[in-house]
Amino acid sequence: MKAFNPADFRAQFPSLTDAGVYLDSAATALKPLPVIEATRQFYSLSAGNVHRSQFAQAQQLTERYEAARESVARWINAPDSRDIVWTRGTTESINIIAQCYARPRLQPGDEIIVSEAEHHANLVPWLMVAEQTGAKVIKLPIGVDYLPNLAALPALLNAHTRVLALGQMSNVTGGCPDLATAITQAHAAGAVVVVDGAQGVVHCPPDVQRLDIDFYAFSGHKLYGPTGIGVLYGKTPLLAQMSPWLGGGKMVTEVSFEGFKTQPVPHCFEAGTPNIAGVIGLSASLAWLDEIDLVKAESYSRGLATLAEAELAKRPGFRTFRCQDSSLLAFDFAGVHHSDLVTLLAGSGIALRAGQHCAQPLLAALGVSGTLRASFAPYNTQHDVDALVDALDRALDILVD
Ligand code: PMP
Repeated sequence: MKAFNPADFRAQFPSLTDAGVYLDSAATALKPLPVIEATRQFYSLSAGNVHRSQFAQAQQLTERYEAARESVARWINAPDSRDIVWTRGTTESINIIAQCYARPRLQPGDEIIVSEAEHHANLVPWLMVAEQTGAKVIKLPIGVDYLPNLAALPALLNAHTRVLALGQMSNVTGGCPDLATAITQAHAAGAVVVVDGAQGVVHCPPDVQRLDIDFYAFSGHKLYGPTGIGVLYGKTPLLAQMSPWLGGGKMVTEVSFEGFKTQPVPHCFEAGTPNIAGVIGLSASLAWLDEIDLVKAESYSRGLATLAEAELAKRPGFRTFRCQDSSLLAFDFAGVHHSDLVTLLAGSGIALRAGQHCAQPLLAALGVSGTLRASFAPYNTQHDVDALVDALDRALDILVD
């Protein structure tokens, strides 16, 4: 039975003992013991490469590697594990979609709608492909609630729209747009929908079939897994239409000096020796998460963000950019530079991030040059909230006359 107990959850994270107060899980989540142990075992006990050698250990490794693909498919309810492509992370996944799916199909004058709330990883690849093809990137602005304004979407969709690129959850405001509505509207206009799941995947694993998502991208490291491993999900017919971008070993069935034939999806997208340790670590993370009541865990971390927001709101000049009841709390203090604050907080052992969070257009729309961001995870505690508030009080004492 799934369960969530904050103390038991926290006990799984050995780095918490000396990491001070860690409030930067939106940048990367800490790693629990099962992930650390699976990675250690892989490097200390396994031998061989995947999809290559015939000896038993290499064969077993290949089975684990492919079983991990099935775990990921279950995590997002993909209909078939062949719809799961291993990548280095969200950034690489979205670049593959832009270069291998969109680029050969885009004509001058075609339109790609991108929300103003996107991380650069879901904007720059579209700007690049627009420059390469003569297509245009069209902004879906945010509304007063900081969410992409879906009421403005129907007027932007037209016969030229080819792609709608939308984040499941903003890495700044924590806002989660109504994907179902956006996808229905985009599909009615004939556009393909690319969802950046980098932040959303850990808070609310999507059902890609129910939502009818065409492409979904996420990174293992935000899901308590290793860095350098990520996922590109695509609907079978879409992936099947795409030519791989990386050529090399194991993505081909036949090679001669006259040409080559590629493997079927997904292996045609996985040239070269893959990140086997990353795949094994990510699958350990998913197996561990399977035992956890994620709804309770999520409500616990949201509760901590709410507490922190309520406490900080008592200080003059506090401004919050938090959407809904997210576990991310982006904030600043009027007249105090975020870089000064974050430097003083770092000196007090509080790990969080300040700046533009790789979302410059969103920050511009919010009318700020940067914010601080405290991101709460289920391993955080009320003590972490108190420590943040105390450290901020000390920093504000120094910075405010
Ligand atoms: N999109 C969002 C919303 C993110 O928060 C991030 C990571 N900060 C990315 C994309 C990029 O992920 P990665 O760096 O793992 O490729």
